[in-house]
Amino acid sequence: MPDDAVTMDKVVALCKRRGLIFPASEIYGGIANTYDYGHYGVLLKRNVVDAWWQAMIGDRDDIVALDSAIIQHPRTWEASGHLAGFTDPLVDCRTCKQRFRADHLDEEHDVRCPRKPSVLPGQGPECDLTEAREFNLMFETTIGPVQEAGSTVYLRPETAQGIFLNFKTVLGFARRKPPFGIAQVGKSFRNEITPGNFIFRTLEFEQMEMEFFVPPDEAQQWYKHWLEARMDWYESLGVRRDHLRLRAHEQDELSHYSSATSDVEYLYPIGWQELEGIANRGDFDLTQHAEHSGDKLEYFDQQSGERYVPHVIEPAAGLGRSVLALLCDAYDEDEIGGEKRTVLKLHPKMAPVKVAVLPLVRKDGQPELAREVRDALRGRMQTEYDEGGSIGRRYRRQDEIGTPYCVTIDHQSLDDRTVTVRDRDSLAQDRVAIAELPEWLEGRLAAPWRSPKLGDGQAAA
Ligand code: ATP
Repeated sequence: MPDDAVTMDKVVALCKRRGLIFPASEIYGGIANTYDYGHYGVLLKRNVVDAWWQAMIGDRDDIVALDSAIIQHPRTWEASGHLAGFTDPLVDCRTCKQRFRADHLDEEHDVRCPRKPSVLPGQGPECDLTEAREFNLMFETTIGPVQEAGSTVYLRPETAQGIFLNFKTVLGFARRKPPFGIAQVGKSFRNEITPGNFIFRTLEFEQMEMEFFVPPDEAQQWYKHWLEARMDWYESLGVRRDHLRLRAHEQDELSHYSSATSDVEYLYPIGWQELEGIANRGDFDLTQHAEHSGDKLEYFDQQSGERYVPHVIEPAAGLGRSVLALLCDAYDEDEIGGEKRTVLKLHPKMAPVKVAVLPLVRKDGQPELAREVRDALRGRMQTEYDEGGSIGRRYRRQDEIGTPYCVTIDHQSLDDRTVTVRDRDSLAQDRVAIAELPEWLEGRLAAPWRSPKLGDGQAAA
């Protein structure tokens, strides 16, 4: 179990208080396992997605981008095996009317029986569970004006299949040969009926998936490559190494198509949980779609004269779970001058706002100068201007959304055109000339960073 001050309740409360993430449809009482992202949540999410694209297509040239449709031809899901097999085993309790995942009944962190005393489902004196039934997770809808005459289609439960359907098209125009990858970010939908632990498990969620197509005899080596690369990526976002681990699936846990799968797990306040799955999917998907569509999905190597169906290594990450890991990893409480402070010690490159510009008082020309400073900064970094309330409250607000630097314009600023820059983590205050401020901040924001929550002697991110 995690050792620090962070709990899921505290993270949820902070997200709501500061408008990062909150329950959807709240004026109607909310809707299960569905959340909306406010301004700072959107900025945080965007930073994660940008970092993912950077790692996939910015830092290497063997991957191309794709944005495929959410609703694909229904036969897609026949071929992929989702129609027949994308199910969870569920049990109902006849007493409390709650529904539980049959394969999660003994997991402490997951759902507990709502009756008191709080016990695991099936273990209370009044628990009366049904037999397990398989329940398909795909959302169905209809194309056509009337339900009866229309055709049933599905909201995609993963973005990966859109990539497989486009394998041949992309191969044609991207002028790549295996090993090469196709990457995509987008919404997926799963009819998850068990409570989701905030944004850990939601009905709709964004995935960041990449299918890496390789010659069959290179699959194992690329699988290992991606295990390492993905762990490094989370560390590069500032996630502490000791809160990350790779867990290889046991033989009986593997999906039917996979010869090897490992999960990147994060130590959430609810325990070690999957953040990303990395699978060696072999040639399952291309072979299935070739069979069902009648189209050949293979690669012909003109140099060697060899024809083969590439094998696929898939790193499949969840954006919501990455955001939640960042929030949990950054959440901290400390004390300033005897007062408790809540702070998100986010990696500066992940912080929704990089710098807040704050006039000390709302008079004497300070707001005017502060706006001039704000104008010099925005366009170069995400900047926020705030003149409302005491300076202490404004600092607190920025601390809670993880802003690494606060620039304060005071009386002296009007005399000598310098400002005070306050560091979120060390609380150090530097006096910096306004003329030098943009470069000064850019230098600080780009500097190597390690989580201040790491104890002395632990590895830096
Ligand atoms: P779990 O076992 O937790 O249901 P999974 O193994 O079914 O997850 P994958 O199909 O491997 O998940 O999907 C890849 C990634 O997509 C997951 O690692 C996770 O980050 C994300 N993901 C999957 N389902 C959800 C969901 N309902 N809500 C939020 N993120 C999800």
